[in-house]
Amino acid sequence: MNAQLLDKIRQCPSLPTLPAIALRVLEMARAENSDTQEVARIIMKDPALSSKILKTVNSSFYALSQSVSTINHALVILGLQSVKTLVLGFSLVSNLSQNRAKGFKHLDYWRRSIYAATAARIIAGKLQLVQQEECFLAALLQDIGMLVLDQVLGESYGTIHEQVTSHNQLCAKEMAVLGATHAEVSGHMAQQWKLPPVLAMPMAWHHSCAQAPTTDTALKKLVEVVSLSSRCADVFVEQNPAEAIADVRKFCLEKYSISESDCDAMLDDICNRTREVAPMFEVSIASGISYEAILKKANETLVDLTLRTQQQAANLEQQNIQLKVAATTDGLTGLANRATFDRFIAEQFAMAAQAGKPLSMLMIDVDKFKSVNDTRGHQTGDDVLRILGRLLKGAARSHDLAARYGGEEMVLVMPGTARGTAAAIAESIRRAIATKPLSTESGPLPITISIGVAALDKDLPFKHHAQLIKAADMAVYAAKHGGRNCVKVFTVKPQAPPAATAAA
Ligand code: GH3
Ligand code: MG
Ligand code: MG
Repeated sequence: MNAQLLDKIRQCPSLPTLPAIALRVLEMARAENSDTQEVARIIMKDPALSSKILKTVNSSFYALSQSVSTINHALVILGLQSVKTLVLGFSLVSNLSQNRAKGFKHLDYWRRSIYAATAARIIAGKLQLVQQEECFLAALLQDIGMLVLDQVLGESYGTIHEQVTSHNQLCAKEMAVLGATHAEVSGHMAQQWKLPPVLAMPMAWHHSCAQAPTTDTALKKLVEVVSLSSRCADVFVEQNPAEAIADVRKFCLEKYSISESDCDAMLDDICNRTREVAPMFEVSIASGISYEAILKKANETLVDLTLRTQQQAANLEQQNIQLKVAATTDGLTGLANRATFDRFIAEQFAMAAQAGKPLSMLMIDVDKFKSVNDTRGHQTGDDVLRILGRLLKGAARSHDLAARYGGEEMVLVMPGTARGTAAAIAESIRRAIATKPLSTESGPLPITISIGVAALDKDLPFKHHAQLIKAADMAVYAAKHGGRNCVKVFTVKPQAPPAATAAA
C-alpha cells in the first residue's frame, strides 16, 4: 500500500477501534478450552448487544425449530464461533456508526454492508460452506476501509466517490488517485484488529479474489463468496443495477452452475432477509423494496446487455475460427500450410508405423513454372497455383491432407493408402491437368506436373517420416529427369541397398 497513506492512517486519531467486548470474545474464542459460560457472562454485560443477538438468532435467518431465550442457549444451539461473529458484527457496527460521516454518504455505506453480509451468508448456505457466519461478518466488514479513508481523507475521499457511478469502479479510481484501494485498507484494519485469516483475507481481497495470496482452497472460496456478495449488494443499492444483475447471474452460472432463475430466486431471498436483518443493525431500508421491482426496471437494459454479450461472444468465436484458419492454411492456394503438413505427416507416420498400416504421399512439382512467371507474369503464376490447389483439394479424400509444401510444390498425404493405389491416384491427377489447358485470368494455359510417390509399407519400412518425404522428393527428381509430365514411384531395387532409384 502507498506508504504516505499508510502513515496518515496510522496517525489518524479517530480510526475505528475494536470494542472491548469484541476483543474479549475474540480472545476467548481463540483460546483452546474456551469457557462458554464465561463468554455468555461477558456478552450479557451488554444488554443491548444481548438482545440484538437473541433477536437475530430467533429471526427467520437462522430458521431454528425452537425459540432461543438466553445467550447461554444461543451458544449451545449455534456454537461459540457463530455467536462470536455476531458479537463482533454488532459491537463493531454500533461502534463504527458513531463516527460522523465526512465526505461520503454513511447510510448508503451501511445499507450496502448489510446487503452484502446477508448475501454472503445466503450464498455460503447455498454452497453448503461450514463458515457461513464468517462469510456474513467478513462481508459486513469488507468495505470498512471506506470508513477509514473517509476519516483520514474527509472531503477529498468524497470527491473520489462523486466521480464514480458504481462501487465496481471505485477501486480503479482509488488506485489512480490514492495508490491504494479501500479493500487494502480493510485488510490493514483486519490486521490491526488481529482478525483471523477467514475474515482478514476476504476483507483485503474482495475486489481481486483471483489474486488472493493463499493456496488454501476453502479460504479462497470464502474470498470468492465475499466478492460475489459485494456485487449482489450493488443490485440493491445502485441506480442502474442491470450490470450488477448480469454479473451476478454470470458468476453464479459459470462458477457454481446456478441457473439464471435460481440466481434470481437467491437475489429475491437476499432482498427479503436483508429487510429483516437491517433493523437489528439500526439501518433503515425502504420496506417496499423488492427484487421483482428492481428486475422489472432493469429488464430493458438487461436484454440489451445480454444481446451485446452474445454478439461479442459470437464475434470472438468468429475471430477465433478465422485465426485458426489463418494459422493452418496457405493464403494463396487455400490448401493446408507447411506447418499443418509437418504436424500431420508426423502424426500419421507414427500411427501407421505402430498399426502396421500403409501411408502414402505424393510430392507434386509444376513443370517449368519459372517460365510461366517469365512469359505470362507473376499474377498468372499465382493463378495457376490457385487452380492447382483447387484441383488437388478436390482429389483429396476426407482423411487425406492436401498441402502446399513450398513454392510451386504441393503434397497429398494419404493415410491407409497402399503404394499401387497412390500411384494410380497420382496418375489420374497428372492426366487431368495435362489433358486440358488451365483457364487462367490471362487466358488458357497448358500446364503439366511431375509427381513423386512414396509409401510406407512392409516393403519399405522407413524409420522416420523425414525419410518418407525425402523418398517422395527423390521420386519427383527422377520424374523431372524422366522428361517431366510423369509419375515416378520410389522403390528399392531387389538386393540393392536403399537408394535414390525411382521406377515408373
Ligand atoms: P522444373 O520443371 O524443374 O520444376 O522447373 P521450374 O521452373 O518449375 O523450377 P524452379 O524451381 O527453377 O522454379 C520454380 C519457380 O516457382 C521459381 C519461383 O519464382 C516460382 N514460384 C515459387 N513460388 C511462387 C508463387 O507463390 N507465385 C509465383 N507466381 N511463382 C512462384
Ligand atoms: Mg521446384
Ligand atoms: Mg517446378
